[in-house]
Amino acid sequence: MKARFIDGKAIAQKVRDEVKAEVARFAAVHGRPPGLDVVLVGEDPASVVYTRNKEKMSNEVGMRGRLHRLPAGTSESELLALVASLSVDDAVDGILVQLPLPRHLREERVLDAIDPRKDVDGLLPLNAGLLALGRPGLVPCTPRGSMRLLAETGTPLAGARAVVVGRSILVGRPMAQLLLAQHATVTLAHSRTRDLPALCREADVLVAAVGKPRMIEGSWIKEGATVIDVGINRTADGKLVGDVDTEAAAERAAWITPVPGGVGPMTIACLLENTVLAAWSRSALGRSAG
Ligand code: NAP
Repeated sequence: MKARFIDGKAIAQKVRDEVKAEVARFAAVHGRPPGLDVVLVGEDPASVVYTRNKEKMSNEVGMRGRLHRLPAGTSESELLALVASLSVDDAVDGILVQLPLPRHLREERVLDAIDPRKDVDGLLPLNAGLLALGRPGLVPCTPRGSMRLLAETGTPLAGARAVVVGRSILVGRPMAQLLLAQHATVTLAHSRTRDLPALCREADVLVAAVGKPRMIEGSWIKEGATVIDVGINRTADGKLVGDVDTEAAAERAAWITPVPGGVGPMTIACLLENTVLAAWSRSALGRSAG
């Protein structure tokens, strides 16, 4: 079998087009576009690029996107005051605090200051709990985007054996929950898992979210599997590679995401989608609810 590549760039564009239409519809009803506020503390180069992209792309789909850049030495109370003010601001629908924060700031304390209805990263206990219960809420963007990629391939999920490698709060765990909600039989693997190659060989759907360049070898892939490679790793020669040995895996898989151009572009597209969802659901609830 020779795999077909899943075109994350094209699918992300499709998601952004859908979001653009929803933004216009929301603005027509409410007299203002949905608002996304991104908070960056410090100058971490990757975070500077990510947050600028988030601001730029939110404005491109017609939202009111705004980036708050704070110096690395910002105190916890200053940051908490900003997040609290965004939480109560009616024109703000989504709040994203870019992680990781500088070491002197406690991430949990800062995240807890976000109104859960504006938690477009889906990281707060309320949203994680809703996901675990199979109830609607805000879902972390990367797993949400990965599910959309799976849907676009038409890979059947009900009854499929799915293996998710990596159990982070941001990617692996929510991905496992989303696959379970689609009736896959899910195994969540991690660094203590025994005989990972054998486990992967059983997977009709394999999701890699580890952060180790090309760790998953071609021989670990089940013939005809769909492979979603979330990993983004930079090699010594500056190349971006995934957690899967893409070329070798493509000899056996039916579908596979490239890196770059697979899951990566979906993350911001799904952040925009979450912001519109948050805007609609808050307006439906009304300010006094919840
Ligand atoms: P993370 O928080 O570092 O979690 C990595 C997970 O991989 C952990 O659960 C860890 O297990 C597991 N792991 C580590 N070594 C392993 C091994 N040898 N065998 C099996 N499991 C192993 O990483 P993350 O935030 O989930 O990110 C994972 C990757 O996705 C990274 O490359 C990151 O850059 C990328 N990423 C991409 C996007 C995107 O937009 N495409 C978004 C987010 C992340 P333990 O829990 O046992 O330690």
